Amino acid sequence: MGRQFFVGGNFKMNGTVKSIKEILDNLNNAKLDSNTEVVVAPPSLYLLLAREHLRKGLEVAAQNIFDKPSGAFTGEISADQLKDSGITWTILGHSERRVILQEDDQFVASKTKAALDSGLGVILCCGESLEQREAGKTIEVVTRQLKAVADKVKDWSKVVVAYEPIWAIGTGKVATTEQAQEVHKAIREWLKKEVSDEAAEKTRILYGGSVTEKNCKELAKQADIDGFLVGGASLKPAFVDIINANE
Ligand code: PGA
Repeated sequence: MGRQFFVGGNFKMNGTVKSIKEILDNLNNAKLDSNTEVVVAPPSLYLLLAREHLRKGLEVAAQNIFDKPSGAFTGEISADQLKDSGITWTILGHSERRVILQEDDQFVASKTKAALDSGLGVILCCGESLEQREAGKTIEVVTRQLKAVADKVKDWSKVVVAYEPIWAIGTGKVATTEQAQEVHKAIREWLKKEVSDEAAEKTRILYGGSVTEKNCKELAKQADIDGFLVGGASLKPAFVDIINANE
């Protein structure tokens, strides 16, 4: 059985009630490839609105969670609360959180475990900086980020990995198909060695970083690219073309 194509839209800290409804209406009315799993991640303020507004079959993700179920954690949201609100996924370990909010590998791993324990799916992001790539450390950095999770999580059936080179995020500088495929293949080999044959075979590995309707088809053809995590372009009508990239 092949891996089901997966496309996530990461709205980041963008949108208003009006503009988010417009994006969701566009998806609700579009003809989307029924073989592709589609998940949108609006800012937390709009998660419930998205769940209520979005048609059945399209899922909603948080952009982050906290690793405790409830309690005195001002400003945070738990996996249980998301589940309670019909939110079925969360993005974790996005480079903007790792870099700007200084989340380390251990914290990302702990949140991944908490999300999975509550029954959420996790879009687990990893990726290297330009400096790390130029120093030949891409695979080392990415597998170190994933190893922290593998130490805590044995069942990867609800984990989707998103490889997002930091230098490609929001820059318009997409990784070449060869660069992306090379890292995706290395991640799959790493999963085989460090997690299980089954995880290597079944885990979807998404590419993220300046994906557009123009470059998505070529990327989607690569053997180990199973979908995309899309930032900027997920706010535009052309997001539909990216969802349908694998048709
Ligand atoms: P981008 O962002 O598509 O705007 O480059 C991708 C991401 O950060 O998930």
